[in-house]
Amino acid sequence: MIGGKDVFYTGVSVIAEMYWCHKKAMLRAAEKAQMFATWWRFMMSRKEVCPEEVAVATKDRIIFHPHPRVFGESPDELKGKSKWIRLGTEGEAMFCPYREEAEAAFSYKDLRIGAIPDGIGDDWVGEFKVTKLPRYTGAVARCQANLYAFIFQKPWYEVMLYHPITEKYYTRQREVDPDRAIDDLEKFLALIKGEMEPWPCKEWKCKHCDHKKECESVWHGDNPSGWIEYRDWMIELGGPLIYVDSKR
Ligand code: SF4
Repeated sequence: MIGGKDVFYTGVSVIAEMYWCHKKAMLRAAEKAQMFATWWRFMMSRKEVCPEEVAVATKDRIIFHPHPRVFGESPDELKGKSKWIRLGTEGEAMFCPYREEAEAAFSYKDLRIGAIPDGIGDDWVGEFKVTKLPRYTGAVARCQANLYAFIFQKPWYEVMLYHPITEKYYTRQREVDPDRAIDDLEKFLALIKGEMEPWPCKEWKCKHCDHKKECESVWHGDNPSGWIEYRDWMIELGGPLIYVDSKR
């Protein structure tokens, strides 16, 4: 479908964005796929990492990132960051006893999905968010956490939301719902393939949307280029996706 090799790289957080706004999820998906194409070529040129071990899982299987990565930032690095970033990083740290192992690439049909949960244990995964809108952000976080649990094959997930004004935490634990995970993946595929019309979004969400300009150009401009054209243009910006034979 994309990159000439029927592969669309994305991330769990991008898929979950559908629960905020379908169009925003699609726009973020195009950006993510473009960034991936750039990153992929960079890794190929360095030949330090075998790309299929990082980003192309065998069908329905998880392959862990073979190289430990440093997640998060040190207290010194965090000093100059906004309150939101600091709160998010500190919150994630509560969930993260095994983060160096918690990166996966997962295949579902044409999707290659990068998954890095905020927290993971023997039988659970967790997602943490800082938000003033727990009701709306909760739906995004639940989708995200359910997908992580599905991908990492954990029986349950936990969502924790932190409200920065009231300083309250909201937590929910749920059993993984594989049917829901598949439904979400199918819906996302249909959206990015242009087989499903994105649902209209609540107007107040558009007010401070950081994708407003792109959204207007794709869907509401005088001469809208259309979603498929925009998607493919973004992918081309990243350059051709060099495919690696996973049997190599
Ligand atoms: S401007 Fe509104 S409809 Fe467009 S991506 Fe943003 S929130 Fe969604």
